[in-house]
Amino acid sequence: MTQTLPHPRGDAADPDQPGTGRAEPGALLVCAPLRIEARAVRRGLLRGVRGGGQPPRDQGGSGADRPPLEVLRTGYGTSRAAQQAEQLSHRPFGQMMIMGVGGGLSTDLSPGDLVVGTKVGAVTCPSAPLLAGELRRAGLPARTGRITTIDHLIRRSERVGLAADGFLLVDMESAPLAAAAGERPVAVIRAVSDTPHRPLAGIVSGGLAALRSLRAAAPVAERWAAACGTRQVLLAGPRSFCAGVERAIEIVERVLERQGQPVYVRKQIVHNTRVVGELESRGAVFVDELDQVPDGATVVFSAHGVSPLVRQEAERRGLAVIDATCPLVSKVHAEARRFAADGYTVALIGHAGHEEVEGTLGEAPDSTVLVQTTEDVARLRPRDEERVAYLMQTTLSVDEAAEVSAVLRERFGSVRAPGSDDICYATTNRQAAVRAVAAESDLVLVAGSANSSNSVRLVETCERAGTPAHLIDGAEDIQLGWLAGAQVIGLTAGASAPPAVVEEIISALAGLGPVSVSERVTTTESIRFGLPKEVRQ
Ligand code: SF4
Repeated sequence: MTQTLPHPRGDAADPDQPGTGRAEPGALLVCAPLRIEARAVRRGLLRGVRGGGQPPRDQGGSGADRPPLEVLRTGYGTSRAAQQAEQLSHRPFGQMMIMGVGGGLSTDLSPGDLVVGTKVGAVTCPSAPLLAGELRRAGLPARTGRITTIDHLIRRSERVGLAADGFLLVDMESAPLAAAAGERPVAVIRAVSDTPHRPLAGIVSGGLAALRSLRAAAPVAERWAAACGTRQVLLAGPRSFCAGVERAIEIVERVLERQGQPVYVRKQIVHNTRVVGELESRGAVFVDELDQVPDGATVVFSAHGVSPLVRQEAERRGLAVIDATCPLVSKVHAEARRFAADGYTVALIGHAGHEEVEGTLGEAPDSTVLVQTTEDVARLRPRDEERVAYLMQTTLSVDEAAEVSAVLRERFGSVRAPGSDDICYATTNRQAAVRAVAAESDLVLVAGSANSSNSVRLVETCERAGTPAHLIDGAEDIQLGWLAGAQVIGLTAGASAPPAVVEEIISALAGLGPVSVSERVTTTESIRFGLPKEVRQ
């Protein structure tokens, strides 16, 4: 028998017996093999209601935010699971979540850890990163990985081989059950009860920890179901890497190839955690200042540029410098030097503390004043009101920078502007593209890191257009609550975010239901920058 949660009328049917159930179209079907697993899930769902969740319609609530669901005890072992799977494949449900305990295969797993299946038997579960991220935000220790199903209790000697084959967890039911979902969204959450260090002998205490985690995970399963549905993804074009970022990454890669690790890089080469993590794994060492670089070593300057003081320090230390400063940032530095040499006070429109701004300010510190707002312009006291110029950080919001420069022109009639726009082509193009996409979307996701000015400006551009937007490093940062009711999702990536992250996000969304992807291209880009002589072939 099955139970719709919370139990509708406390009817006489035994909810702990396996059965065929009575799911309805669109409902979340939670498959829990064992009685104690089904109970843990039910209790977790009930606790979710008591903790502020809305009771379903049949409990007197509107049920508007809660999908209909039922928990089905599917029975122990592969043969029971296969029998259930045969029946389930003919049943009307919306999405399937398999929840239970399992055996951990990796030595760094502990009892109570949750494993969200990326691939379970032959079934791929693309929404695993979304679920794992949501579980972690709920304070639960969750990882993604492959799950395998075997027809007997795991033997100690088998764990090593399965781990070597790339599996993170083993159970006795998930694979046939997951296959029964067919084209419908399916996900698997298994709580670790035993591990290589604590095999079956420790299963009682480990099992209790696993059931506690399973109970705590149940409300997240419900949020996953509420986020499931058919969607349209609108890609903004252009998006992702710009020419300056591609050049900077290629420089570090080439230095690694030629000199081997370690390769020292002052500051993050570009502001993206994925890029930095990838290069770190290959031997790049990111340092905040040059005093962390050994004498005589090679150091790469990041795409954001450095002030002359940093260059002088590198020279004094005898460091071999390879400069990955974007040529468009170097252009702004050159303008600052030229205006200052001509006796101008330079108003630098930008954000305090950003590395690019610090580098530009350092070119002419006595002549340059940072202005972040129109109020800063009102406070500006130039040496000569007839000799005022302005420059811009390359990654500003086009709209915001235009407001500040307009006030500068109003206050100082003869103010000099940069020879060509300082806000670079990549920033301008990505903002125009995301504006077009935001106009058609319920929600915009911006791939990029929190310290990426370019990416943060894309979020602000959407918000100015009246569309909610969120900055995410990857699919795991997407909160399931954002997706409930969002049918058209705009998607872009900041100039420092890798294209692969966009693909990863689309794949994760497709794990929640059918996704159609189309692109809104506002312009195309063909700019490429040459490499510095030190790394040319
Ligand atoms: S965002 Fe613009 S200034 Fe920054 S690296 Fe890319 S092209 Fe260069």
